[in-house]
Amino acid sequence: MLVVMRPGATPEQIKTVVERIRSLGFAAHTMPGEHTTAIGITGNPGALDPGLFEELSGVAEAIQVTHPWKLVSREAHSEDTIVRVGSMNSGKPSAGPVTIGAAEVVIMAGPCAVESLEQTVTIARAVKAAGAHILRGGAFKPRTSPYSFQGLGEEGLKILAEARREVGIPIVTEAVDERSLDLVEEYADMIQIGARNMQNFSLLRRAGRAHKPVLLKRGISATIEEFLMSAEYIASEGNYAVVLCERGVRTFADHTRNTLDLSIVPAVKRRSHLPIIVDPSHGTGRRHKVIPLARAGVAVGADGIMVEVHHDPEHALSDGPQALYPDQFVELMQELRALAPVVKRTIHSVS
Ligand code: PEP
Ligand code: MN
Repeated sequence: MLVVMRPGATPEQIKTVVERIRSLGFAAHTMPGEHTTAIGITGNPGALDPGLFEELSGVAEAIQVTHPWKLVSREAHSEDTIVRVGSMNSGKPSAGPVTIGAAEVVIMAGPCAVESLEQTVTIARAVKAAGAHILRGGAFKPRTSPYSFQGLGEEGLKILAEARREVGIPIVTEAVDERSLDLVEEYADMIQIGARNMQNFSLLRRAGRAHKPVLLKRGISATIEEFLMSAEYIASEGNYAVVLCERGVRTFADHTRNTLDLSIVPAVKRRSHLPIIVDPSHGTGRRHKVIPLARAGVAVGADGIMVEVHHDPEHALSDGPQALYPDQFVELMQELRALAPVVKRTIHSVS
């Protein structure tokens, strides 16, 4: 159930509603909007009587949320959520903030994996110079084979933090379990949950208790409902700063690593207020497909694009075949800047 307050409801009126929800043994999630505040109720075993709340002062209405995902649904919050990544989120050294979900399309770029300080800083400088807003790079790598490079771990996080200091843009990196999430929360500006962990519910709950925004990638065969339910796990713990990421799903198509399902972007926008970005690198697995599908991602209305870039992809320790060369990334940025206004978006230049 969702309790929608009248425009101009006072903090005391909101507090009274929250206290009524808690006194019934349920959890209250206050979601302030531009004009009205809504309070989501979770933890109730069945439908609640709207009359429990509708007679409280300042309440406009109490509505049943029809979807199983509640807090992340459009019903709960009709305005688009804007997620801030970077300095506003922590007292520690950072960069930004960068906002995701507003008019600007946000570009995240960097290597698949952090391999060394020199490699990361070289790529960070190149992507920042071309206009990337957020640096990506994995320190904990979820690899299909246990014999493949697994990432540098905490050393990789220190390298990312150093690269952020050098180039001045926020960093996003993956946590693969609760222990690595503690570390990622400490060093990074945004916590990535990878496709393989989209339904690792204890990890999602831990991300929900983190004080940093979360980038949640779609599982390899996840339906939209499963995807949104995973976001709901994070929100249900109190962290509403969630950005979704389409990164391709497994289908019969064998000309591509995965099938990038761009149709999920407008489908998510209809059902949820959360921002969604597109990752054409993991979505295709081959660099010649990355630029066309990045363009398509912006055209379909994504709030951002995540791409892998490497200055020496032939020697990359992971995902070399899908990494763009720095020159290709420059070209991509030029194309996206030209394309964005067609869909009433902009791409900010980073100074
Ligand atoms: C990544 O972005 O580094 C990654 C491993 O992606 P995915 O979880 O989508 O496979
Ligand atoms: Mn990769």
